[in-house]
Parts: sequence; structure tokens; C-alpha cells
Amino acid sequence: MKITDIINGSNPSLSFEVFPPKSFDSFEAVRRATVEIADLKPGYMSVTYGAGGSTDIYTPEIASCIAERGVTPLAHLTCIGADEEKVERILSELKKRGIENILALRGDIPKDGSTHGGVYKYASELVAKIRSFGGFCIGGACYPEGHPESASIEADIENIKRKTDAGCEFLTTQMFFDNEIIYSYMDKLLAAGVDVPVVPGIMPVTNAKQIVRITSISGNALPKKFMRIIDRYGDDPAAMRQAGVAFAIEQIVDLYAGGFNAVHVYSMNKPDVARLILDGVSEIIGRDR
Ligand code: FAD
Repeated sequence: MKITDIINGSNPSLSFEVFPPKSFDSFEAVRRATVEIADLKPGYMSVTYGAGGSTDIYTPEIASCIAERGVTPLAHLTCIGADEEKVERILSELKKRGIENILALRGDIPKDGSTHGGVYKYASELVAKIRSFGGFCIGGACYPEGHPESASIEADIENIKRKTDAGCEFLTTQMFFDNEIIYSYMDKLLAAGVDVPVVPGIMPVTNAKQIVRITSISGNALPKKFMRIIDRYGDDPAAMRQAGVAFAIEQIVDLYAGGFNAVHVYSMNKPDVARLILDGVSEIIGRDR
């Protein structure tokens, strides 16, 4: 099924993200977590793609595990450092496995700045490539607080428009912790003519250290309400997990109330967290549980 059909469906959708193993040693643990999350029957599940193509075998494999459990997979694909032959090989592999949905990304530029002879500079070029290859529903990333490399949010949105003009049919957002940011971002997208469906991405923060590290890179604004939770429960893992899940559920409830029909959760291979979140909104998304 196409992701656009799911996110435009009559019931609100809640979906989850997993990341693939980096090596065969952890494949079984990731497969098990993936199956457990898939068995919660989310709207769909995404599988990330390791930086620089480091998971090009495992992303399609984990996507197939998701499909085998009757859940629609969304395979991520990055293009930085890739040549056309490599991208075509992966697209053929995904097609062979019956995977219909791709989140087309540039990927982060390696610290040394080298792109190892890759031919794609921006995600919009990958979107165009996938579109000409044919047969996929294509999504892309967007950044309610602006991409860290962008001079301004307006300049970033101009580039998002390039991506949708190239064939990107839906957008998933970077995480954010203050919903007012996405409501004002939506107005800016619409004003710039970006009218594809947008799926807010929500990160349940269950580990205080991890989130402080991630947000220092992504530049997320952290509301006082959120910082109070980190300060009070950051050193108590069980309490932090409960508070982080509660915060994420509150954000998600507000997003559905505010008119979004689909929310994506960065569930970080944690079936227990995925289950708590799904239970927290089951009536809201009309699930028989
Ligand atoms: P782009 O859309 O190419 O944008 C990158 C930067 O270039 C932006 O600042 C943009 O404004 C600018 N830009 C775009 N087009 C132009 C142009 N024509 N001229 C000038 N500037 C331009 N990374 C992974 O490695 N694996 C993953 O699986 C993964 N999944 C992700 C999922 C989501 C939902 C999100 C939000 C991010 C994900 N990332 C992933 C991280 C992502 O790869 C990085 O944020 C990366 O730095 C940018 O990728 P992009 O696809 O948004 O790039």
C-alpha cells in the first residue's frame, strides 16, 4: 500500500520507525524488535538507512520483515556518496521485494566533507531519480526548525518546494518538542506552495543524555516544560522513560486535535515504548484494542 493512501485514510494513523543493524551480529535482536513493533499493527513502519550506505543490505531485509507481518514498510534511502549504479541496484532490490515506499534523503555530509565520488548533491536529485525509475511512492524529510545547514527557514522551505516539485509526495518532519513550531511551519509551507501531506515526527525521550546530545546537533528548541522533566527525572531511568512517553503522548494528542491525520514516532527499536504510545492514543485513532 502507498504511504500517501495511509496518511490520507479515514482513520488517523500512528506509525513507528526502526533502525537496521550495522552488522550481522545484531541482526536477530533488531529483527525481533521490528516484529514486536509490527505486531502492534501500526499504520506503517519506516526503516532508516545507515550513514553512507552502511546498511544497504539490512534496510531492505528489515523492510521485508515488516511486510511479512502485514504492515506497510517505508524504506529510507540516502544518496550522499552514491553513484547511479548503486542507487539503481538498491531500487531494483526494493522493487524485487515488493517494497513500494521510499523516504528519499540526502544523508549527512561526512565530517571530512568528502562525498567519495557521489553524483547526488541534494535529496531532490534522488527524488527525481526514483521518480524516473518508477514504481515507488516517494517521501522526503522536512525541518520545522530549519535544516542546520540552511541560512534561514524560508531558504530551507524553497528547497523543500524543489523536492516536492521533483516528485516527493509526502514529508516527514524532524523531531520537535514544541507543537507551536509545527503549526507555524505548516503556514509557511502552504504559503510557499508546498501542499503535500506532512507527517510530524515525534521522539519519545527515554534517555536524557541521548536527547541532549541529539538536540545539540539538530538545534531543537527545548521548551521549559520539557527541560523540567529532564532536570527532575534525567538520572532516574524508569521515571525518565515514563515522563518521556507521557510528554510524547501529550504532543501526539494535540497534533491529532490540531488536524494532522498521521503522526510518526521515532520508536528507536523499543517495542515497549511503541506499545505505551499506541495504548495512550488508541481511542483517538479509533483502534479496537
Ligand atoms: P536535502 O533535502 O538535500 O537538504 C539538505 C540541505 O541542503 C538543506 O539545508 C537544504 O535547504 C539544502 N538544499 C536542498 N536543495 C538545495 C539546492 N538545490 N540548493 C541549495 N541548497 C539546497 N539520515 C540518514 O543517514 N539515514 C536516514 O535514514 C535518515 N532518515 C531521516 C528521516 C527524517 C524524517 C529526517 C528529518 C532526517 C533523516 N536523516 C537520515 C537525516 C538527513 O539525512 C539529514 O538531515 C541530512 O543532513 C539532510 O537530508 P535531506 O534529505 O533533508 O537533504
